[in-house]
Amino acid sequence: MQTNHPFLAEDYHIRWSTLTPDHVEADIDKALEIAEANLEKIRLLDLAKISYETTFGALEVVSEDLDRAWGRLNHLDSVCNNDEQREALNAALPRVTAFYASIPLDDAIWENLKVFADSAAAKDLDATRERFVDETCASFIQSGADLPADQKARVAELESRLSEITQKFSENVLDSTNAWELVIEDESRLAGLPESAKAAAAADAEGKGHKDKWRFTLQYPSMGPVLQYADDDDLRRQIWEANCTIGRDDDFDNTALIWEILELRQEKAELLGYDNFADLTLERRMARNGEAALKFTEDLHDRIADAFLKDTEELQLWKAEQSGTEPGPMQPWEVGYWAEKRRKAEYDFDEEELRPYFPLPSVMEGMFGIVSKLYNIRIEERETGEDIEVWHPECCFYDLFDNASGELLGSFYADWHPRESKRGGAWMNYFETGLPPMNGEPREPHLGLMVGNMTKPIGDKPALMDHREVETIFHEFGHLLHHLLADVTVKSLSGTNVAWDFVELPSQIMENFCWDRQSLDLFARHYETGDPIPESLYQKMLAARNYMSASGFMRQLGLGKLDLNLHVKLNDYRGRDLDEVDREILADYKAPLATDGPSMARRFSHLFSSSTGYAAGYYSYKWAEVLDADAFTRFQKEGILNPETGQAFREAILSKGNSAPADELYEDFMGRAPDQAALLERSGLA
Ligand SMILES: [Zn+2]
Repeated sequence: MQTNHPFLAEDYHIRWSTLTPDHVEADIDKALEIAEANLEKIRLLDLAKISYETTFGALEVVSEDLDRAWGRLNHLDSVCNNDEQREALNAALPRVTAFYASIPLDDAIWENLKVFADSAAAKDLDATRERFVDETCASFIQSGADLPADQKARVAELESRLSEITQKFSENVLDSTNAWELVIEDESRLAGLPESAKAAAAADAEGKGHKDKWRFTLQYPSMGPVLQYADDDDLRRQIWEANCTIGRDDDFDNTALIWEILELRQEKAELLGYDNFADLTLERRMARNGEAALKFTEDLHDRIADAFLKDTEELQLWKAEQSGTEPGPMQPWEVGYWAEKRRKAEYDFDEEELRPYFPLPSVMEGMFGIVSKLYNIRIEERETGEDIEVWHPECCFYDLFDNASGELLGSFYADWHPRESKRGGAWMNYFETGLPPMNGEPREPHLGLMVGNMTKPIGDKPALMDHREVETIFHEFGHLLHHLLADVTVKSLSGTNVAWDFVELPSQIMENFCWDRQSLDLFARHYETGDPIPESLYQKMLAARNYMSASGFMRQLGLGKLDLNLHVKLNDYRGRDLDEVDREILADYKAPLATDGPSMARRFSHLFSSSTGYAAGYYSYKWAEVLDADAFTRFQKEGILNPETGQAFREAILSKGNSAPADELYEDFMGRAPDQAALLERSGLA
């Protein structure tokens, strides 16, 4: 079977060269067939012989082959995209999504699962299996499994309408973004723009057939630098006004869609017995319900409100001084520009100065050194080739061993540079979830990956990262360690399969090591001289870190507040004007401006471009920052490279996955609930 169906092959060292598009259709069909047969076994169970293994245990591995094949295919689509492969994936997509969606609505399966969950045997399960039973039941119930047939049908209707109109929402955002362009012929209008932004705009224009011109769009990498750097006030105003039309004008108006999406979500929540959509979505996350998430947001707001007002006033004053005008509310297209000008004037810090200290090989080596010491592990790079294949020659492969037992805990791929066939951004993912030694079987190692689009090497220089890229590498490696160090007996509770507002703790905590002098000195070395970062440069980097941090902080809080209010208090807003509602919700979260813009909800894709997505969950970004800043204080107190502290973090958090509720794991490590103080201090807002 394995040679005929390469996407289903179980080799730990994946045979990437055999995973060709011509196999996709047959392999996905085969995987679906196996998964369907596995489901049928659970449906037709002999209730007299019911056990964990024949119910929940069987459900856990129902789609193992499909998960494997589908995961490998989607991974290839992200890192080695080509038309034939894309076509094969899209052809299989509807069948695969329909299969996964059908499981919680399958009455026969749900009945049999419940028989076991209610049985005496279920009371004797170990804690991890018991949690798996509870989590699975909760997720079935939240998908409507327990509703009477007519209501179940209504939930399915709501879901299908939601997927249709959220798709329309994101098409409107995309199409209205792409409907606008600005081609500039007069180079003098570009004064102030960095050369890199000008070069990108010239290349863009050339690609559209305009010689010696500059083209700008509403894509962030194009318009962002204009709003930040362009001296031409009118150019910034033009871009800002165009940006306000996204999801609003002509054929692309999302206003009605937003209200309908909110109503459908509210109806779904009520059918399932909740007051509102936030309560449904957050029930199994750390925040637990919408009110608690709101309170979290409002508390932080109150703690930084003064600093935010001060930021705003200082910037207004500075602009007035520089431009010889009266201080007062600025235009929205002025804020970013004057903030950047002031930053340059006050800090004299150019981020590019750091690059020579961050050659990629030393960054990786230093990072491995830090975690090896903290977690008592060893990481070894393996030679790739015939034995260990990779999907692209730039990709590297590593083994990770436990020092105490000598066991191979897992392996991972790292693929760091951009190419045309790779999608943008950086991410971590996994191919295999391993198991600790159990039932007389040895440990099954994990297999994961991290991918990015980092600066490439030029000529014979190594790839020199900027500081943000270094943070990203540490961040993704944190996610990867969460997977590789997991020691959980139920695979679907392992590693990163945790509550949404907890999953960024292991990743974000790693970023702290990119700011601490002691850890920086372990990997930040000048690529020619081997010198560490000079103290004066380090101090400038620290000083610039929190410039106007209250403003960025408040912006994130405002987005979370808008999201939560819409999903918790829909009754207060129904039938009203969206912009008026937005102004009311965010009255204390925005600086006064000379011109009011329309509600950004119309292009808030996090909330409205899929059935759930980040809806009622945008607060998680700040939530996880509170956790990582707070948890890192224990490292700061006990020594940031203290192996005992590292071991405690590995044991309480990294090894546990979702085998216990996140707040319990957190308390195991910190001995108390999370405290917001550390984040405020780190942000210079305490
Ligand atoms: Zn992350």
